[in-house]
Amino acid sequence: MTERKSVAEKIDILRKEKNAVILAHNYQLPEVQDIADFTGDSLALSQMAATTDADIIVFCGVHFMAETASIISPQKKVLIPDLKAGCTLADAITADQLRAWKKEHPGAVVVSYINTTAEVKAESDYCCTSSNAVKVVKSIPEDKEILFLPDMFLGAYAAKVTGRKLHIWPGECHIHAGIMTRDLEEMESEHPGAEMIVHPECGCTTSLLYQNANVSAIGNGNGGSNGNGNGHVKFLSTGGMIKHVSASNAREFVIATETGMLHPLRKANPDKTFYPAREDAVCRFMKMITLEKILKSLEEEVYEVKVPDATARLAKKSIDRMLEITA
Ligand code: SF4
Repeated sequence: MTERKSVAEKIDILRKEKNAVILAHNYQLPEVQDIADFTGDSLALSQMAATTDADIIVFCGVHFMAETASIISPQKKVLIPDLKAGCTLADAITADQLRAWKKEHPGAVVVSYINTTAEVKAESDYCCTSSNAVKVVKSIPEDKEILFLPDMFLGAYAAKVTGRKLHIWPGECHIHAGIMTRDLEEMESEHPGAEMIVHPECGCTTSLLYQNANVSAIGNGNGGSNGNGNGHVKFLSTGGMIKHVSASNAREFVIATETGMLHPLRKANPDKTFYPAREDAVCRFMKMITLEKILKSLEEEVYEVKVPDATARLAKKSIDRMLEITA
């Protein structure tokens, strides 16, 4: 009698046969995160994949993230299990729109959030993440005009913290508007002992960053001023969040970000209770990737995401410039 294999087992066999590495963003479905080789933030995942000797990267995330993996590892084959997994924020500005905007502001320095297409990155001087946007803006000489895109809340936050006047593209994430300071206040009255933690990856919490600009250094969980906010709201990176939650004496936590982030936290801290700041903070694009689609992706080596060499070279420069500043 032949033994029936589960989808996860079939994925595992093929991953080994094809020397593939599976990456899952924190906002992926729990079962997708569970079978991944690495889970984490978008840029960190691409950087981790680059250090492996894998021939194939299966990126369980959205399209611009797979492009970033292709930019950083041009010699590897990058696959995304569903080509429709896009990003509202990355789609908010095209390379043509950026070129036209640059023409209106000759000599301006372009700072692009990591949630942009490869073509837009190639037209940018600097890339940035929500954790380092302020540092990148501060590094640019005062006399330079700055075009900041595509996240208007992250741009407004960087302008508020640095005191710089930025030209900001009016883009936004389709779920960010759902998470507001008032949601945290409501959760605080429902769960008075709970700690309020914000994970600033993707555009879904950048409006919170803006609203809490006076308290919102993003921390790594090691204590000190970073991430401590005003004791009420803590802004922490993924690693910082996991470290902080494990070390904290609190038993309950309200997590303000896309709800997928609760899965790794619950897994690492089974004795603690986590509540999403909003149940409906769900990125439908992130949830398009399923185990069945990952299996098909490995079997048929679909759908390949390959950034053309010339675009990749320019896009990588904007990422490298950011890394030089934040190293
Ligand atoms: S949560 Fe928003 S910014 Fe992040 S991938 Fe989804 S649409 Fe894009």
